Amino acid sequence: MPTQKSLIVFDLDACCWMPEMYQLWGGGAPFKQVTAAPNNVLTDTSGTRCRLLGDVAACWAACHSRMQAGEPLLVGVASRSDEPAWARECLNKFMVAEGVSMMDVVGEELCEIYKGSKRQHFAALQQKTGIPYSRMCFFDDDTANIRDVSTLGVHCVYTPSGVTRKLFLQGVDAATAGGDTWAAFRDGSD
Ligand SMILES: [Mg+2]
Repeated sequence: MPTQKSLIVFDLDACCWMPEMYQLWGGGAPFKQVTAAPNNVLTDTSGTRCRLLGDVAACWAACHSRMQAGEPLLVGVASRSDEPAWARECLNKFMVAEGVSMMDVVGEELCEIYKGSKRQHFAALQQKTGIPYSRMCFFDDDTANIRDVSTLGVHCVYTPSGVTRKLFLQGVDAATAGGDTWAAFRDGSD
């Protein structure tokens, strides 16, 4: 088991869940849990269903159980969502394992949800955790964010269809290995 800490960072809108928060304008909070079972569905005030993408529930559950087992991992969020309060509410209401919400996995302290370059979000996460960028991985569905954060040396993983098990393991393995030359995604222009 590695001794140095690694940080697993997720974008939220269109990476962990759909719809994106701005697409709920006219509805939005408060959200209701259709069930409280893992990988549950939420509904907003206009009845729109919000769901987790890909293998997000299983991947977050894996982070949780690996941390519970003593692995030196932390989870963070780097989001530019238009509705940070709604996003936090969804983190509290989306369940990833029996009795475990997304917020239970990430913790309020490492949720960076605001506008601006995501390099700022990562600078904040670096300050708070002391973990070097080479031991971080980042999942995002937006190629501009991927390019931006790649320049820091974070292992960036492009997730056009949400976080899948395969991409998740690639990212986490790269972060725990800590190499400085690896990135799962290149856009071909460099
Ligand atoms: Mg996104």
